[in-house]
Amino acid sequence: MSPQNVVALELSLEDRERVIQGALQAKESAYSPYSKFRVGAALLTPSGEIIQGCNVENASYGGTICAERTALVKAISEGKKTFVALAVTSDVAAHISPCGICRQFIREFCALSMPIYLAPSDHPASRKSEEEDKNVKADGVLETTLGELLPYSFGPEQLELPRKS
Ligand SMILES: [Zn+2]
Repeated sequence: MSPQNVVALELSLEDRERVIQGALQAKESAYSPYSKFRVGAALLTPSGEIIQGCNVENASYGGTICAERTALVKAISEGKKTFVALAVTSDVAAHISPCGICRQFIREFCALSMPIYLAPSDHPASRKSEEEDKNVKADGVLETTLGELLPYSFGPEQLELPRKS
């Protein structure tokens, strides 16, 4: 395991549950008349604040924004730029993971070691015995990190590297 995959911060179980509940609550505001696929996301700040985001679709499909980016844009525009966890959920029992664009967007603001919790729609529900994946915890939540979702990534620090003119 490379250092970037090590989870630096162990959240309390209470904070873990708070950010997951934030995602579940955010999903209720989803505007998804076209896909009919509601997604909720929530960010946890170092001070314990929860920032929620939902997917917001558009009749011009390309104008659609995902729940994860909604949460980040809301947070950044309110002056919050550091985060300690992200949770994502939907209406399906599977673990729904951030899309490629969102992974890159998250990369801009979050540490590679930041935990990302992917919660099934029926959270909390035990399905540990049915799962092979060691990242799936007893309550059915898949715990991963940004570094695992976006390996060998490009981020702001690469632009600081010295270059030959
Ligand atoms: Zn996305």
